[in-house]
Amino acid sequence: MGKKYFCDYCEKHIQRDPSIVRKHNEGIPHCRARAEYYERFKDPSVILGEASGKKQCRTLMTGAECQFGPNCRFNHYTAAEMDRLGQQVDWTARQKAKRTEETLQKLANAPNIVQQFLERREARLAKEQTEYKPFWSYSEDLRDGDLPPSLREIDPGRIDSSGGFARWG
Ligand SMILES: [Zn+2]
Ligand SMILES: [Zn+2]
Repeated sequence: MGKKYFCDYCEKHIQRDPSIVRKHNEGIPHCRARAEYYERFKDPSVILGEASGKKQCRTLMTGAECQFGPNCRFNHYTAAEMDRLGQQVDWTARQKAKRTEETLQKLANAPNIVQQFLERREARLAKEQTEYKPFWSYSEDLRDGDLPPSLREIDPGRIDSSGGFARWG
């Protein structure tokens, strides 16, 4: 005897015979299990949209279990469930609107941010150009001291650039 066929939707083993499997797949319990499985992944707004156009399932209203499950052409959701679905859809829509609003706000502020950056940069560059800061300056304390010539402040006017090196040494 060959292996058994396992139906994931119904979570049960059946004989691995094409006609038996086909018959199982066409059966109401299988279709119902399959519909219930996919119902779990449906968007609440889709469920709500589908359910709100349907009349309440009479079988379910009598307290009995409807054999068609989510495949039933009548609505299986109670008023409380519909209400909860509605709240869920509302909440999702509000979150989405909030995100859109935040994105638009950011985009609206974007030119300001760029403008501020450019203004600050320009101000910094202008300051750098007007304020000349020598990277080193001779200390005021040393200026009038009695220092050996090599430590005295250099007087540019005394630098002999005529190349008279011969006199040295
Ligand atoms: Zn099945
Ligand atoms: Zn029903």
